[in-house]
Amino acid sequence: MNIEFDLIARYFSRPAPCGFLGVGDDCALFPVAAGHHLATSTDLLVEGRHFFSDVDPAALGHKALAVNLSDLAAMGAQPVACLLSLSLPAVDHDWLTAFSQSFYALADQAGCPLIGGDTTRSTAGIVISVTVMGQVRPDQALRRAAAQVGDDVWITGDLGAANIALRLLQNELPYNPDLLEATRRALEWPLPPWQFGQALAGVAHAALDISDGLAQDIGHILKASGCGAELEYLALPVAPALQGLDSQLVQAAVLAGGDVYQLCFTAAAGERARILALAAASSLQVTRVGRVVAEPGLRVRAADGTVIPLDKAGFDHFS
Ligand code: ADP
Ligand code: MG
Repeated sequence: MNIEFDLIARYFSRPAPCGFLGVGDDCALFPVAAGHHLATSTDLLVEGRHFFSDVDPAALGHKALAVNLSDLAAMGAQPVACLLSLSLPAVDHDWLTAFSQSFYALADQAGCPLIGGDTTRSTAGIVISVTVMGQVRPDQALRRAAAQVGDDVWITGDLGAANIALRLLQNELPYNPDLLEATRRALEWPLPPWQFGQALAGVAHAALDISDGLAQDIGHILKASGCGAELEYLALPVAPALQGLDSQLVQAAVLAGGDVYQLCFTAAAGERARILALAAASSLQVTRVGRVVAEPGLRVRAADGTVIPLDKAGFDHFS
């Protein structure tokens, strides 16, 4: 039997839900609710660039889908289905078992069944491509260009832990097994708020996920919306694991650290109570961190009211 067919049959052929045509035909078929548009996004993960060669394959299977679910959440879209393409230099059954099991576990949790993909041999290194499809009412989608002057700026979850874990693993920070233990879950097992993202559709204005760091990513909303923002540094939700670390290190991780599969979104001040209730219903932490203003650009203010320079030495590393 062709080895690729064998791998697909063994690891990636779970039946699709009722009403779907899943793995095994030339195309998958699936329904989209009336009045909705299809929201799609794809992410490529390359060994040595997006993940370490020795990373736990279970974490990788989870993260490959999680980073895509994060994009659906940031659009306010409900997950519908996903595709997985894999290019592998060799067949490692333990690796494939762990990878596929945790991929399916998150797919089940998010209601985002795997309905197709592609599997090939690679000449060097593992390459993983996941495509998600979701549905959203087009007038309710959380577009980057939709922020309005006077909106509150909110953040889900907390900031900084994934960046500290990454820097520890890259030996950019001194060896600290306790700190790594406390932070690496944020890096390797992110859980984007796909349910809350959907709940925000039609409530919030603009949203995105913080994959490249808050200061940079919020800039995309501000540019697309033609406005600026004022944030209070002390209001930002710092991951508890970072307590007691050097304040400059924390500041860089919080403002510029990426890999945060959480949302930054803007919403009218009149929606505060509703947003807090929706977050409570999803058992999700949400924090109001500032507001959208007319003057372009991002200003993050320290406790004394001075603006924290975002282009100073500590941030060069991330550019
Ligand atoms: P084709 O030649 O039409 O591209 P393939 O032989 O590549 O078909 O794939 C056979 C079936 O298995 C298709 O339905 C495809 O979507 C599915 N498939 C292949 N690789 C994967 C994978 N990694 N995960 C899920 N489905 C897969
Ligand atoms: Mg194929």
